[in-house]
Amino acid sequence: MGTPKGTETQSPVALDLGLCKACGICMAICPEHVFDTSGLGEPIVARPEDCTSCLLCELHCPDFAIEIRRRVRKRPAASPAATPEEIAEAEAARVFAALAAQSEGEGDSSGHSSDRACGHHDEDG
Ligand code: SF4
Ligand code: SF4
Repeated sequence: MGTPKGTETQSPVALDLGLCKACGICMAICPEHVFDTSGLGEPIVARPEDCTSCLLCELHCPDFAIEIRRRVRKRPAASPAATPEEIAEAEAARVFAALAAQSEGEGDSSGHSSDRACGHHDEDG
């Protein structure tokens, strides 16, 4: 029986047994009991579907033999795809537009005419 289509087909747990020294930490620490132990004392990813990507095993493996593939979170439909650059750009545009609107409003409604300096009255002496 295979993994149903549309679900995760790859194990989130990538083990590099070339680096593993069979210390047993990952098998002991995994709260979901994802690992079994091989006859050589090495971990076997026996239940990858139970992995919650908590990263405990990756963080505690002294030999960096485990990598947990981060799950890609789907964006909500309402929020458009945005990179940090796009977000910064949009924010800058928003601030710029707000400033422009503000200065435009000041110019129009305050009744300042262009021939008199703003906030400064000439006092003839
Ligand atoms: S913690 Fe790392 S070195 Fe230890 S058994 Fe697990 S994978 Fe191997
Ligand atoms: S990431 Fe967490 S749940 Fe997944 S195998 Fe490692 S310790 Fe277990």
